[in-house]
Amino acid sequence: MAEVEVSKVFYCGICTFPPEYCEFGATFKKCKFWLEENNRQLFDQLYSDDALANATSSLSLEKQEKIDKDLQKKQAKEEAKQERELQKKLASKVVLKRIERTKRKHAIAISGLEVFEIDMKKLAKTFASKFATGCSVTKNAEKKEEIIVQGDVGDAVEEYISGLLKEKGLTDIKVEQIEEKKKKKAPPAIPPQ
Ligand SMILES: [Zn+2]
Repeated sequence: MAEVEVSKVFYCGICTFPPEYCEFGATFKKCKFWLEENNRQLFDQLYSDDALANATSSLSLEKQEKIDKDLQKKQAKEEAKQERELQKKLASKVVLKRIERTKRKHAIAISGLEVFEIDMKKLAKTFASKFATGCSVTKNAEKKEEIIVQGDVGDAVEEYISGLLKEKGLTDIKVEQIEEKKKKKAPPAIPPQ
């Protein structure tokens, strides 16, 4: 990808707002830490004792304490939520199930993508044109969406999805291929002797 010219306006790397607004967001603690690491000058400008004294002098102490408390609560909640989401992602894996339709025809069912904030319909379209094949989004037995790609394209799909996860910084997610044989008819039950 071509390098984009760096904008002169400085934005917070955590919440993406200008650092002056970080304190109103739910990730303030992280924002502050990030700014200290990445723009010491602006950090001092915003959070030195003098700057804080100026900013808070117009608020009553009581009001200030309430704001601090609310903010702490919000931050703790947001941090817990982010942690939960991360754990959920790390515990998940993408499963590519190779389904035997006939002796020579196969389809690949891709499940486990929903936690990665991937647009399933868009991805199905991408696969349809990439592999010039039929592709659909359906709900599986666990009521979760999965993408069905017609054709024996498991390896290509795995490669593409691994790339997609890497783009999102999710390099630890497993992509697993499994096989589903066509169900054979049950043999006739042997009557008890
Ligand atoms: Zn921020």
